[in-house]
Amino acid sequence: MSSVKEEVLLRIYDAFEKWVDEDLACRKGCATCCTQNVMITAVEGELIHRFIREQGKQEWFAEKVTIKANTRRPEITTNGFAASCLDGKDIQPDSYGSNEACPFLEQECCTIYEVRPFSCRCFVSTVTCKPDVPALIGETYLSASTAVMQIVEHLGQGEFLGNMLDVLLALCDLPENRKYFELLPASMSDQGLANVVKALPLPGFLLLEEEMEKISPLLEAIFTSKVKGKSIEDILNNK
Ligand code: SF4
Ligand code: SF4
Repeated sequence: MSSVKEEVLLRIYDAFEKWVDEDLACRKGCATCCTQNVMITAVEGELIHRFIREQGKQEWFAEKVTIKANTRRPEITTNGFAASCLDGKDIQPDSYGSNEACPFLEQECCTIYEVRPFSCRCFVSTVTCKPDVPALIGETYLSASTAVMQIVEHLGQGEFLGNMLDVLLALCDLPENRKYFELLPASMSDQGLANVVKALPLPGFLLLEEEMEKISPLLEAIFTSKVKGKSIEDILNNK
């Protein structure tokens, strides 16, 4: 059975998908954006692990994860960055990056599409990306996706946050994932644990006044949505 946090996460994904009205160039089979440069929270990782367990694909996952590139600890999380900006500090976002293909990409399609994390869901473009054509998207979309990323981090506060492959490895320590101890070198789980940081609470959004008209309905849809009889706003505020 999925946890309340996993259900909240799915509602957030759903609200964001319904809000997007850009004319996107993204199509099935278009996947140059599918690199190992994907950050997730533990809740997102648990959703992926559940999906893999329910499909009995643990051996497949163990093979996939062993081809991960050299990932590293994030220097700062999205909420850490927002807190510094709100404190008036001059700070750069993490320049974390790996252009290696994501191991979950097979024949240009995502094999965990139903449970892909928010970083993958929000990475879109209005032009088809090519080696010399980067993704292009409007500022308001970027602000909205950052705000939702902050909410996703807040949902997982105090838990792991990091590169998708490191978080998935770190979660192999959970009792329900112990099967991986037979399938993976122990050093891999340790490597995951060494590369993750803690997700932080939401310090406030970095939204501009002129963006609010477009973004407020998205935030409203997320916060008022109910899971097990409670609004997501109350769940996020521990009420
Ligand atoms: S972001 Fe770019 S590479 Fe990724 S699906 Fe969209 S158009 Fe294709
Ligand atoms: S998880 Fe799926 S959508 Fe995300 S980068 Fe990997 S293949 Fe692409």
